[in-house]
Amino acid sequence: MHVNDLRPRGYCHGVKNALAMIKKIINDPRYPRPITVLGSIVHNHAVVNALKIKGVESLMDQGQDRMALLDQVSSGTLVLTAHGTSKAVVEKAQAKGLTVMNAICHDVKRVHDAVRTHLDQGHGVVYIGHQNHPEPEAVLAIDPAIHFVESLSDVQKLPKHLSTRPLFVTNQTTLSVFDLLFIFDALHARFENVIFDDRICGATRQRQEAVIHQPEADLLIVVGDPKSSNANRLQDVSIVGRQINAYLVTGAEALKKQWFDDVNVVNVTSGASTPTAITEHVIKVLKAYDKKDPTTWRPLPVPGADEILGL
Ligand code: SF4
Repeated sequence: MHVNDLRPRGYCHGVKNALAMIKKIINDPRYPRPITVLGSIVHNHAVVNALKIKGVESLMDQGQDRMALLDQVSSGTLVLTAHGTSKAVVEKAQAKGLTVMNAICHDVKRVHDAVRTHLDQGHGVVYIGHQNHPEPEAVLAIDPAIHFVESLSDVQKLPKHLSTRPLFVTNQTTLSVFDLLFIFDALHARFENVIFDDRICGATRQRQEAVIHQPEADLLIVVGDPKSSNANRLQDVSIVGRQINAYLVTGAEALKKQWFDDVNVVNVTSGASTPTAITEHVIKVLKAYDKKDPTTWRPLPVPGADEILGL
């Protein structure tokens, strides 16, 4: 079986910056303890577990917004994630006397700035994203006048009065072009004066383009967490945009030998929040597998916390 390693894959610059910030805090005792992350620093369970081993607690979302999660923190250093955090949450954390370290990604920050600029100009604002994700949560907290759209049916529910002024439309950075195309068309059909500002970030776009242009294969393996928006989109893009079946796996432990029975060529990629060590581990397992010899299907040692965090 031939295995192709797609590039680019894995950590984006926003995730690299967030992890570099956490590593600096772990290694510098001047940052007050305990160290707490408000949410998951990245949507990857292995990274969250590795941080726990290093003494960093992540307050998982589980239906609560950032404001509610913050009630669980009373001291120490608070790390805010690359997904962005509302001003009200930052102010509340500072008022509690916490040392606040904000790892918001520059690409997400630029969306916040654009939304604020258009609100100041008196424009209507529509934001396209996925429910229960921290990135939309922070954008929608900027102003209650922002309209949230997740699906085509949400476009039909938008109030008619939005057509009386320019309508600024932007989006979550980790969507796929396929998510946006139909929604953009529907908005264009309903409203005349629409300013589209597609904010799929460069890292997400490059990883999706690598999947669109992947070599001919029988299967794509996407290594990533089920909660990772960008990893899920890589699977969608392969199936919808390239008609190559794709499975999303957290790591080598989730691979199923029978998936490869009729596979001669398999491509491998990973989400922007997946540690390189886990993806390389998957590639090693697949490359070592000789279908004529079932004993070659062997799990290799799972990467440890230091390898996952690059410490
Ligand atoms: S996926 Fe894009 S927007 Fe999100 S952290 Fe990475 S670079 Fe930033």
